[in-house]
Amino acid sequence: MHGNFPRAKRSLGQNFLVDPNIQRRIAEAIRPGPDDEVVEIGPGQGALTQHLAGTVRRLVLVELDDELARRLARQFEDRPDVEVVHADVLDVPLERISADPAGLKVIGNIPYNITTPILFALLERRPRPREIVLMVQREVADRILAPPGSKTFGALAIGVQTVADVERVMNVGKKAFRPVPDVESAVIRVVPHAPPRLTRDEEAALRALTRAAFGQRRKQFQRILRDAYRLTHEDVSRLEGETGLDLQARPETFAPERFVELARVLRERR
Ligand code: SAM
Repeated sequence: MHGNFPRAKRSLGQNFLVDPNIQRRIAEAIRPGPDDEVVEIGPGQGALTQHLAGTVRRLVLVELDDELARRLARQFEDRPDVEVVHADVLDVPLERISADPAGLKVIGNIPYNITTPILFALLERRPRPREIVLMVQREVADRILAPPGSKTFGALAIGVQTVADVERVMNVGKKAFRPVPDVESAVIRVVPHAPPRLTRDEEAALRALTRAAFGQRRKQFQRILRDAYRLTHEDVSRLEGETGLDLQARPETFAPERFVELARVLRERR
């Protein structure tokens, strides 16, 4: 579907992937099988779509751009296994796409300005899809994959790593896109824990803790807990005794599991 095409819209994050080898490798990263239901976010001119259509039981394409959605609908009108949803992906919950949302695989070379909302929509709501492959800005991939103690470690790493296994599939350079974007890219694979390891309440408590912790970077954890949770010095000492954690350290040095543990203990205290 290349060529003869109106100008890419910056507002919709349109940078089309033109390298056929990379297109194929990303499509394969979702490990498409004949029983799969797959949702593609932002199919655009079909860069990934062309490698997915026909390999899975059902393919749902969610595209916001009027002209692109129309083109895709026309292209696949004779294919009962491919469906075009002309909508903003953030307005389409997974349960509207499938009777078995927990079985869905989600793939997309997505607009970078809505990466975090898309990730949150996929990971904070339940049920979560079975598997997610996304092209994101490389810096965002680094933040999602960051180990504790590194400069980029923070709320995003903890939010994703505590609910899913995540890995980098590959880095992708700017030249693979038209128009050539300003930033480097990377493809990540996110496989939500199934069944989830935390309850919804535990996840909510963890989110509140991470928000408090990283809203005030460079502070010791004990200080944050005293401010945000109104703990006294004695409370902090008791908490250290209970958890074995050194709360004089800064939040960015704590592994995601430690955050989970701390959130759990704080919740039980109340
Ligand atoms: N998948 C294509 C590719 O790899 O060449 C297009 C990628 S382009 C980076 C992002 C695509 O997402 C565009 O087709 C754009 O129109 C679409 N898009 C932007 N915002 C969207 C939204 N909120 N919901 C669904 N699609 C959106």
